[in-house]
Amino acid sequence: MSGSIVRALKCRECGQEYPIEPIHVCEFCFGPLEVAYDYDKLKGKFTRALIESRPQTMWRYKELLPIDGEPTVGAQNGFTPLVRARNLEKALGVKELYIKNDSVCYPTLSFKDRVVSVALSKAVEFGFKTVACASTGNLAGSVAANAAAAGLESYVFIPHDLEQGKVLGAGIFGTKIIGIRGKYDDVNRLCSEVAGKYGWGFVNVNVRPFYAEGSKSLGYEIMEQLGWKVPKHVVVPMASGSLCTKIDKSIKEFIKLGLVEENGTAVYGAQATGCSPISKSVKEGTDLIHPVIADTIAKSLAIGNPADGFYANRVIRESGGWSEDVSDQEVIAAMKLLAETEGIFAETAGGVTLGCAQKMIESGRLPRDESIVLCITGNGLKTQEAVINEINKPRIIDASLKEFDVLAEADKAKLAS
Ligand SMILES: *Cc1c(COP(=O)(O)O)cnc(C)c1O
Ligand SMILES: [Zn+2]
Repeated sequence: MSGSIVRALKCRECGQEYPIEPIHVCEFCFGPLEVAYDYDKLKGKFTRALIESRPQTMWRYKELLPIDGEPTVGAQNGFTPLVRARNLEKALGVKELYIKNDSVCYPTLSFKDRVVSVALSKAVEFGFKTVACASTGNLAGSVAANAAAAGLESYVFIPHDLEQGKVLGAGIFGTKIIGIRGKYDDVNRLCSEVAGKYGWGFVNVNVRPFYAEGSKSLGYEIMEQLGWKVPKHVVVPMASGSLCTKIDKSIKEFIKLGLVEENGTAVYGAQATGCSPISKSVKEGTDLIHPVIADTIAKSLAIGNPADGFYANRVIRESGGWSEDVSDQEVIAAMKLLAETEGIFAETAGGVTLGCAQKMIESGRLPRDESIVLCITGNGLKTQEAVINEINKPRIIDASLKEFDVLAEADKAKLAS
């Protein structure tokens, strides 16, 4: 089987096609560019058996990812567990619930390792020696780690007030880390200027069309792990809205290639109330996205002016899904619920996803008797600030059985009462 079936870059607005280069906007209408493929070349050749015969990484779907050769960065990334969440099913009163657990994605514990391995493999093909990104946190860590492993120079730009775990989780890799006084949207604006001037491979600026395609692997894996079935309902956290659109694209591609049967999958978007421009637009029944100034503990989702907001809105509405948002208190409660029922410590974005799902189950938007997949995209050890004061502190005793007996008795009495 040969490599990729990429045909061109194509403007999402006017359809103008471009050759494969590090560009991301249409010269004619300023619309965003997206990778287009010749799916016909795969008809009958890209089979379930072929995919299953390959190593368990996101690259088992390499024909549908936009690099020419073999991946040179992040060859082992992806293929995280899909967990049947039976305890959470009981807690929420639903029949069939799954968690796609990208909180354990290799190597930096968020789904950003997927997009970065595609972006940096493509950056190497383009000949970039320095790579960079504008990040809400997880992307910085993933670019830094994957660049280090690939022997690339890296610069990562972040808002100056990120969680300690996100800063540490990038800095440890020896990247050049720049904190910007401002919100992510200010960081992003600066990075557009830097990308133009310095000619680096910016994963989410000039390499963005390729980068974004990496998110499709999350959707492919869900379908394969469901036994080559589409989920009936899938709940996705939204920052720029890109992941939401790419899950939809992954499902349409697998249907087109005959790998799964269509079953009317509805896509649901989750945001924090303190940064909810996309969910607001869906709830209001409009496709106009009004930018906001983000203010939420879910910092990885804090994009006030979401680049793919319009497209995410369209996917959600056309698929028959819905969108919700939750307060910071609800985010924390959902993080604890997920941890206590399923043993999964998700970051704040995971609390957003579960919290929104919970709300939509209660309101009847998500039916209780059909399959639901929650995309858990990042790890709680990176956002400890959110829950550090919410947990049971250790009870300190001497190394004395007597002292422990007192605690155990007290626990027993509590349980009995
Ligand atoms: C980046 C990110 C997302 C979603 O990002 P999009 O820009 O919408 O693709 C979701 N969860 C986490 C933890 C992230 O870091
Ligand atoms: Zn165009």
